[in-house]
Amino acid sequence: MNKSDFSQRLLTWFDAYGRKDLPWQQNPTLYRVWVSEIMLQQTQVATVIPYYQRFIERFPSLPALAHASVDEILGLWAGLGYYARARRLHQAARIAWETHGGELPATLEALMELPGIGRSTGGAILALALGQRYPILDGNVKRVLTRQEAIEHWPGQPKVEKQLWQRAATLLPRTRLADYTQAIMDLGATVCTRHRPHCPSCPVKKTCQAHLQENPEAYPRSRPRKRLPLRATCMLILLNDQGEVLLERRPPVGIWGGLWSFPECPPQTEAALWCQEQFGWPIGEVQHWPPLRHHFTHFTLDIQPVIARIRGEARQVMEPNSQVWYKMEPMYKRGLPAPTLRLLKRLREPSKGE
Ligand code: SF4
Repeated sequence: MNKSDFSQRLLTWFDAYGRKDLPWQQNPTLYRVWVSEIMLQQTQVATVIPYYQRFIERFPSLPALAHASVDEILGLWAGLGYYARARRLHQAARIAWETHGGELPATLEALMELPGIGRSTGGAILALALGQRYPILDGNVKRVLTRQEAIEHWPGQPKVEKQLWQRAATLLPRTRLADYTQAIMDLGATVCTRHRPHCPSCPVKKTCQAHLQENPEAYPRSRPRKRLPLRATCMLILLNDQGEVLLERRPPVGIWGGLWSFPECPPQTEAALWCQEQFGWPIGEVQHWPPLRHHFTHFTLDIQPVIARIRGEARQVMEPNSQVWYKMEPMYKRGLPAPTLRLLKRLREPSKGE
């Protein structure tokens, strides 16, 4: 991608289609742009506009914000969400008031020392308010650049992010930094959208590798999924002569804490022998069902269900507080983990439990 070609095309597009009448673009002081950039983090422009207008009307300057109460700030922020942003805005205003003479500092290093201002937000504030030559790399810009270069790795990886910062810096034009910054943000927000980007009307489609591959939505690549550890267990579905199933209350901590499930034994155990040893009941027919896989956030559990029918009478349980003979009709679902319920359904109606 040719650097001057890219920025020039973007600026020409911005002149024709870019947003130039946003409230923070009128009289773009450091303070006004900063408030807008913080509000725009995680929130769309159309939502931000009325909040921004009310906020600036009430706090027209940094000293006004620094001397306001947190409650009043949060009151004006109510409905915009992510309230930590409002608290950090207030903290930053106080720090700037105390250490920078009541104004925001005009260097990236000093801005980045304030709460809530990272490299991209700081660069955007300086470029948009003062036309300083700093790149930005918010989510929209990352999307445009990863598609332009068809970057095959997840952009959250430090080395990919470093590469993107370098690219973003290289592409900066020599003049019109404020317009260029607004242009690349607008392009990401309105043309190079996450889903169904409008490539035919994109000013930089000629250099876009993802577009040339006819697969823009494949970029940016997703975060690689971690392979979760795999655990295995054997669930014993013990049936008595009444057709009831033995359930045990699980310990209060750990997976399915306090819920009712089948007794479990280590996989590869001789189920009939284990039952006899644990419960003292003689076991008749034993049947192995197809395994079941259950996903937790931190691991995957492979369950081997084993049906074992008790020979003779078995109505008593050894620990009435934590064991119960569960009747299949009617089926009470409360307090049963999903795999237990699934296995019970399979037991009751073999065709529906799958
Ligand atoms: S051509 Fe399409 S994918 Fe490429 S930058 Fe433009 S809008 Fe995004």
